[in-house]
Amino acid sequence: MAETNNNAIKSVLLTEKQLDEIVTRLAGEIEAHYSAPGKNLLMICVLKGSLIFTADLMRKINLPMKVDFMQASSYGSGTVSCGNVKIRLDLKEKDLSQYDILVVEDILDSGNTLSFLLNYLKERAVRSVKLCVLLNKPERRKIPIEVDFEGAKIADEFVVGYGLDYNEQYRNLPYVGILKPEVYGG
Ligand code: 5GP
Ligand code: MG
Repeated sequence: MAETNNNAIKSVLLTEKQLDEIVTRLAGEIEAHYSAPGKNLLMICVLKGSLIFTADLMRKINLPMKVDFMQASSYGSGTVSCGNVKIRLDLKEKDLSQYDILVVEDILDSGNTLSFLLNYLKERAVRSVKLCVLLNKPERRKIPIEVDFEGAKIADEFVVGYGLDYNEQYRNLPYVGILKPEVYGG
């Protein structure tokens, strides 16, 4: 098992090297899909958790593309989704009619956040909407969501690092680690 130098982390789930391999594979799949004639890629980074994932992913995609940002909230400061999703930050780009949209999300858990966001985007005139998630926790799903580009399936444990936080901390860890339950009173 990979070592961690952070005493809030129980164990490392995905090392920097594993993350790099996953992101390289995803970038290849995305590039193959969006290099088809007539595609016009707009990547939507769902803040804040997808910040590092999006930054790494977009640098490995060798295609003309734009990036924009959205922020939704359902979690508050705990570790359980409450199902009450709000848009905190909307896209800067208002006319989406010319774009093939790729939503880039850090983790798919209950599906509350993404089902809301995907519906919201599909209601606006867009050419296509697809979903890329780094991590997928299928055991916890409440709303079915189709994932087009998936990094890795993980078990039902609360993870942090590589953009993912607990109470806004740990986003800067270069790996994905499992938080010790005592840190969040679990
Ligand atoms: P959902 O709405 O699918 O339940 O939750 C999605 C959001 O919850 C993610 O975008 C992420 O912000 C947060 N989340 C879900 N599971 C985890 C986890 O294991 N670790 C962290 N840090 N955030 C999580
Ligand atoms: Mg998130």
